[in-house]
Amino acid sequence: MSNNKKHSNKIDTIVIVGGGTAGWMAAASLSQFLANTNTTIKLIESADIGTVGVGEATLPTIREFNLALGIDEIDFIRKTKATYKLGIEFCDWYKKGSSFFHPFAKYGAQLNAAQFHHCWRKSLDLGEPKDIGHYSLPTVLARMGKFAQPLARPQTPLADYGYAFHFDAILYAHYLRDYAIQRQVIRYEEKVVDVALDGRGFIHSLKLANDEHITGDLFIDCSGFRGLLIEDALETGYEEWAHWLPCDRAVAVPCQRTGELTPYSRATALEAGWQWRIPLQHRIGNGYVYCSQYISDDAATERLLGNIEGTVLAEPRLLKFTTGMRKKFWNKNCVALGLAGGFMEPLESTSIGLIQSGISKLQTFFPDKNFNPDDIREANRLTKNEFERIRDFLILHYKANQRGDTELWNNCQAMSIPDTLNHKIKLFKNRGHLVNYDEESFENNSWISLYNGFDILPQKYDPRVDQINNKELAHDLANMRKAIHTAAKHAPQHKDFIAQHCAIE
Ligand SMILES: Cc1cc2nc3c(=O)[nH]c(=O)nc-3n(C[C@H](O)[C@H](O)[C@H](O)COP(=O)(O)OP(=O)(O)OC[C@H]3O[C@@H](n4cnc5c(N)ncnc54)[C@H](O)[C@@H]3O)c2cc1C
Repeated sequence: MSNNKKHSNKIDTIVIVGGGTAGWMAAASLSQFLANTNTTIKLIESADIGTVGVGEATLPTIREFNLALGIDEIDFIRKTKATYKLGIEFCDWYKKGSSFFHPFAKYGAQLNAAQFHHCWRKSLDLGEPKDIGHYSLPTVLARMGKFAQPLARPQTPLADYGYAFHFDAILYAHYLRDYAIQRQVIRYEEKVVDVALDGRGFIHSLKLANDEHITGDLFIDCSGFRGLLIEDALETGYEEWAHWLPCDRAVAVPCQRTGELTPYSRATALEAGWQWRIPLQHRIGNGYVYCSQYISDDAATERLLGNIEGTVLAEPRLLKFTTGMRKKFWNKNCVALGLAGGFMEPLESTSIGLIQSGISKLQTFFPDKNFNPDDIREANRLTKNEFERIRDFLILHYKANQRGDTELWNNCQAMSIPDTLNHKIKLFKNRGHLVNYDEESFENNSWISLYNGFDILPQKYDPRVDQINNKELAHDLANMRKAIHTAAKHAPQHKDFIAQHCAIE
């Protein structure tokens, strides 16, 4: 093929619809990915429509995203009024009064080549502490309200953990907008009122409210729940998971920050769903995610307002959604990112991470104007798997409850679950085996946190643990607990760490 022919197939113009977290993450990342290629990137957003404005808790992968863009972490924390997140505290999920912590970290260290959780399982028979959190430095730090950089001290595998952030979603979008505009992304502040398709059914152009027409080769739908391009124009279809993930509404309200600056988010199960608490430097984000079948919007709002620590800073905001995913995240010349691609509820803060991996898949399979169908099929297969793995992880939170107090929780306990999840639980219960399918977002340690939090224990363990004598096992585990508690004792309080390194000016 001649160079000219190759050149003519190149994507010349990318049009992104939407200026929420998804739109600006895509614009920032693509402006860097396609730097010096003469590709024009346009982003259209509408102040009349606005953004969803929530989405403040993240996963550790956000650090990789920022790092790849060359963003300075301290500058980012200051400008987005962020705090550190070591994990999530789950209250009242298993039973009322119970709690557990899901850290971004492995537990303990393996002994005699046996994975730690097998050693821990045997230790329970010897009367050792049941709470696996004692073997996780970030869990102990979080319980003490402290924060330290991983591997700061001590220099042991026990101090190798991840962390994420809580940030102001609107400020993060602004931060990335500045980044993208500096790299020649062209911003339109207009409403898209019509979408024109070509003879193949591909998107040809968008009509704006001011009658301007925007043409492009590749379109990225970041228009939020509605899916203006992927659904309204291309009718891609949506796979609903409400029978497994029943919450379909949320009411959100910020309040003044009071008390300790916790280095973690909290998710507390309530009668018809659960409540989030996300601490930022300047305020606390709160919300009640609920199932409208079991509670009215007014009652949910009242329940949330009754549970809030500080003075309320804004009117409560109601959001409606259907859990599930778009049947194809990439259809023809349109890729859907963010809420336009699907939403599985915010319980484990996975949405921003999914935007990030969607961008990364687009880059891995970056098309030319031929839009190779095999590449698109593979990108869709990977995305579907990724969504389904997260879906299963989320379902476990509902299925394993033993609250027994309301219809929602009783129905969740009784519901049938996907075979993929059933298989995982069965193998873990039997001999502590952790099944890994492809495209897992949550690694073994996360599943162990959940199993432990819901008191799902393996009956048997790796026989190699029996080669360690009981006294030695108890001694090694006690040493791990001691090393972790000593390290945590010496770490600064989260609020002091922020004040010293990255407080807002
Ligand atoms: C209750 C709730 C809690 C959440 N919590 C978390 C969390 O803790 N962590 C996490 O990772 N995620 C969370 N999420 C998800 C997260 O909010 C989203 O993934 C993220 O904000 C991205 O949203 P978005 O950019 O896809 O959509 P939006 O923020 O809705 O942005 C849509 C954009 O499209 C534009 N637009 C729409 N139609 C048009 C049009 N016709 N013309 C021009 N522009 C248009 C809008 O102006 C806007 O700029 C939560 C979501 C909900 C609902």
